[in-house]
Amino acid sequence: MSSHSIFTRIINRELPSYTVCEDMENIAFLDINPLRRGHILIVPKLEVDNIFSLNEKSYNSLFFFAKRVAINMKKKITCNRIGMSVVGLDVPHAHIHLIPINSFEDMNFNKSPLKLTEEEMLNICQLLKFTA
Ligand code: 5GP
Repeated sequence: MSSHSIFTRIINRELPSYTVCEDMENIAFLDINPLRRGHILIVPKLEVDNIFSLNEKSYNSLFFFAKRVAINMKKKITCNRIGMSVVGLDVPHAHIHLIPINSFEDMNFNKSPLKLTEEEMLNICQLLKFTA
């Protein structure tokens, strides 16, 4: 079994994903268990468990990349805000959640995720895709 994180295996294309954007240092793909349509994970290509272990350059690069993805999301999905959250209780590879929200409840990680079909995920991915 690979010692790499599940996200590194996505980055290396060993596992499939609904990738919406990437640059040299970061990647954005749809969360497989979305709280909302368009729930995106922003992941540094460097495999680090804790986001606060990233050096300043990588940390800034990640958050600047997240900002660009969020601005693009807000243009394409009708919502009040793009919520941003760092949790990291499930996958030990640093990442940021970006979630289109209308209420606090939309950021409730205790809620059951949406069950979207592959076609729905593909359509959302296509809608949100852009070139960094
Ligand atoms: P956290 O580590 O922030 O608590 O949660 C990790 C997030 O990664 C969860 O929202 C979960 O649905 C998502 N996730 C876990 N495994 C995969 C995967 O293989 N592919 C994708 N796209 N998302 C995943």
